[in-house]
Amino acid sequence: MTKLKEITSFFETLAPLSLQESYDNSGLILGNPNQEINSVLITLDVTEKVVDEAVEKGAELIVAHHPVIFSGLKKITGKTDVERSLIKAVKNDIAIYAAHTNLDSVTGGVNSKICAKLNLQNCKVLQPSSGQLKKLVTFIPEKQAPKVSEAVFKAGGGHIGNYDYCGYSLEGTGSFRGDENTNPFVGEKGQIHYEKEIRFETIFPNYLQGKIISALTEAHPYEEVAYDIYPLDNQSLKTGMGMVGELSSPVSEPEFLNQVKNTFKTGVIKHTQLREKQVKKVAVCGGSGSFLLKAAIAANADVFVSADFKYHQFFDAENKIVIADIGHFESEQFTKELFYELLIKNFPKFAVHFSEVNTNPVFYF
Ligand SMILES: [Zn+2]
Repeated sequence: MTKLKEITSFFETLAPLSLQESYDNSGLILGNPNQEINSVLITLDVTEKVVDEAVEKGAELIVAHHPVIFSGLKKITGKTDVERSLIKAVKNDIAIYAAHTNLDSVTGGVNSKICAKLNLQNCKVLQPSSGQLKKLVTFIPEKQAPKVSEAVFKAGGGHIGNYDYCGYSLEGTGSFRGDENTNPFVGEKGQIHYEKEIRFETIFPNYLQGKIISALTEAHPYEEVAYDIYPLDNQSLKTGMGMVGELSSPVSEPEFLNQVKNTFKTGVIKHTQLREKQVKKVAVCGGSGSFLLKAAIAANADVFVSADFKYHQFFDAENKIVIADIGHFESEQFTKELFYELLIKNFPKFAVHFSEVNTNPVFYF
C-alpha cells in the first residue's frame, strides 16, 4: 500500500517546493499525508468536472499542474468552481496535489518535455536560478575524510552540471579541548589536542541542507562536528525558467511553425513578423513565458515558443526573434504525459488515469 506522503516526497525530490515562485502554491493542497492511494487522476487544472471524474474513476488523488488554490480562501461556500471542487473533494476523500512552477524550473520537468516534443537537442535552462546553492565546509580527521565526503556526496552534495562528486580537500591542523562531559574521538578530555584534519568543501542545493547535515554528522567521528554553511550567488545550471535547445537541422520559419501547430494541436499560433531566416535555435517556456523574452533573445534563439503575450509585448521582439504564442493550455498539455510517465515508472501498482475533461478555458472560433 502506498501512502500519499510517499508520492508527495517522490515529486518533491524531483521538483523541490523551494523552487516554486513566490506567488505559487505547489505541494499538497488537500488531503491527509497518511491516506492510502491506489489510483490517481492527472490533469492540468482542477475543476468541479475533474473532481466528478475522479469520483467516477475511483481515484483517491488528483495530481494537477496548476494549484486549485493560489492565494488564500476565506470562505468555502460553493459559490465558485474552486470552492465547489474543494467541497466535493473533501466529501469524497480525494486528495489534491499540485506541481507547478517547481516542476517548470527543473531539468526533466515541464520545459524538458516541451523540448523533447519539439525534438530539440543540447537543451539548457534559459534563465538559470540563483540563490539556490550553498557551500559546506567541514573539517575531518584525515583517515575518516573519504568516508565522510562520500556520505555527503551520496546525500546529494557535489553536483555541478553533469558532474558529481565535486569537492575540494586541503590538509591542515585542527585544535580542540573537551570538558569533563566529553568523550573525544581522539585526544584526552581536558587536554588541548591538535589533530591533522582535512578541510573538505563542496556545493549543494538549499533544499538538501537537512539531508546533507544529517549525513555529515552521522558519518563524522567527532562528538561535535565543526562545519560552516555559506550562501552562494552562483547560478544553478540545472534549475531555472524556460529552456533553449537546437533542432537537428535548420528549417524555414513556416515549416517550424507548422510543426509546432501539429505537435501542440493548437487552434492558432499568434506570432510576430517572420524574419525570413532559418530556425535552428528555439527557446521554450510552458505557460506564461513573456518575462523570458529578453533571455530568449540573449540566447540567440530564432523562435520563442511560449504563451500569454500581451499586445505590447509582441513589439519587444524587435525583429530579433520570432515570438510564437501557442496558448497557455496548449503549451503545458504534455505535463500530463510527464506526470503519467513519472507515476507509472515509480509506482507501477497504481491505476493512473488521464483526465478526459478539457479544462482549457480558451476557445478559438
Ligand atoms: Zn500554467
